[in-house]
Amino acid sequence: MFFTVKKSAIIIIFIMCSLSVALVALLSLPTTEAANFGKTVVIDAGHGGEDGGVLGSLTHVKESEINLAIAKQLKSFLERGGYKVVMTRNNDAGLYGAVSSNKKLADMKKRKEIILEAKPDLVVSIHQNYFPSSYVSGAQVFYAPSGEFMDLAVQMQKILNLELDCDRNAAKGDYYILQCSPYPSMLIECGFLSNPSDEANLVSAEYQKKVAYGIYSGISFILGSPVPM
Ligand SMILES: [Zn+2]
Repeated sequence: MFFTVKKSAIIIIFIMCSLSVALVALLSLPTTEAANFGKTVVIDAGHGGEDGGVLGSLTHVKESEINLAIAKQLKSFLERGGYKVVMTRNNDAGLYGAVSSNKKLADMKKRKEIILEAKPDLVVSIHQNYFPSSYVSGAQVFYAPSGEFMDLAVQMQKILNLELDCDRNAAKGDYYILQCSPYPSMLIECGFLSNPSDEANLVSAEYQKKVAYGIYSGISFILGSPVPM
């Protein structure tokens, strides 16, 4: 009996110590990080593998490469800000696995699977745009055709217009990634690879970082922890 009580007491003390350590760890985080503790963001770098997306008019850079570079920068900002980040892809490969036919469908289904498993607070899909007229430029944010989560896209667009010095409006976009899960989602076309100025910017690591910071600022605002602008 004495042994059992003693053992129980030791277990209780151990649990209390563990909780104290966890609490101290949480409280010792900077305010922003503590506020974001437990919030999950899925970053979806569009395309990959055989699907390079659109190509730059001048450099022929693949959209998939720029998407991944911006996604990695964004991951780094978010993790420093205390968020949990789930990437749909971390390298240049597509997500279609070993299937030989309908790779696009297999790729998109895998992205959906990752999102559903992550149960995120926000999904941000990163893409680059292309338009036949080369004068069209700037970042644009898309939300689901149902209009759900439109407010979030509008907010992100405002912040990107400020951060990237552009002037576009958020719009509806009939994209699979925006409709494949119940979680708040947006698709960001960071610029036009058909516009010489946008393309020159988007191939530079410095500008990719600037775009990532703009998106990070938007996410922080949307999820309730504004960062200095
Ligand atoms: Zn794309």
